[in-house]
Amino acid sequence: MIKRQTTINRIFKITGIGLHTGRDVTLEFLPRREFGIAFVHNDYIIPARYDMVADTRLSTLIAKDGVTVSTIEHLMAAFYFSGITNCLVYIDGPEVPILDGSAWEFYQGMWKAGVYEFPENSGVYLKVQRSVEVTHNDAWLRIKPLNTLDITMNIEFRQPVGKQKKRVTDVENAFSIINSRTFTLLEEIEAIKKAGLAKGGSLDNAVVIGMDDIINPQGLRYRNELVNHKILDLIGDLYTSGYRILGKVDANKTGHYLNNLLLKELFSDPANYSIY
Ligand SMILES: [Zn+2]
Repeated sequence: MIKRQTTINRIFKITGIGLHTGRDVTLEFLPRREFGIAFVHNDYIIPARYDMVADTRLSTLIAKDGVTVSTIEHLMAAFYFSGITNCLVYIDGPEVPILDGSAWEFYQGMWKAGVYEFPENSGVYLKVQRSVEVTHNDAWLRIKPLNTLDITMNIEFRQPVGKQKKRVTDVENAFSIINSRTFTLLEEIEAIKKAGLAKGGSLDNAVVIGMDDIINPQGLRYRNELVNHKILDLIGDLYTSGYRILGKVDANKTGHYLNNLLLKELFSDPANYSIY
């Protein structure tokens, strides 16, 4: 467990296409002394924080004065797993590249750059003190006090996915979460493309679920890859709290909207949490 603020040891870049724009985007990662992760786009500094989130329909999108950066969740999860608390991410487009649909390449880039630890102790953990719950239709998300981060995720889609459940008790070391890819149902692709979205979508950056099997020739990376990916999204979204959250999380069919709502609810009352 890290105790101090950290940043990357050296500058690095990652280029890839945006899932929805289909255009090349380059990210340049710079060490940062100030606390937190922030994006720099069109000379605007946009903190990667829950209160900057402006849209959660397709991905987690942050905005400031009309300047937006979307699909930040996998990158945020990579920061979480890398133990990095401070970083500036320069981005030359409106969407973080999708890469292989997971957090793997971001995580590798951070690992190669190395982690610099600042000398002084400072609050990087948020400990949940009172239970918080949010619901939306049949989806719900709740967090209770606990000294570690422990996540239970339930998902339900049509066959061949069906109902799946996974519990991760040692999240900081749950490495199979990092390279689990995003997924979509075959029938959703046409609607998304008609709406002019997912121009960059392909079997190279998403798992596609056909009527009775996975369409990708290589199949899944893990038997639990789909539910793993939902946990990855949740971890990335929770890291927009600005802190490494400690608590017991129970999630049912949650998505970016509820993940963000939980943080708003959590921060609405300072008695709900403590920072250390
Ligand atoms: Zn995702």
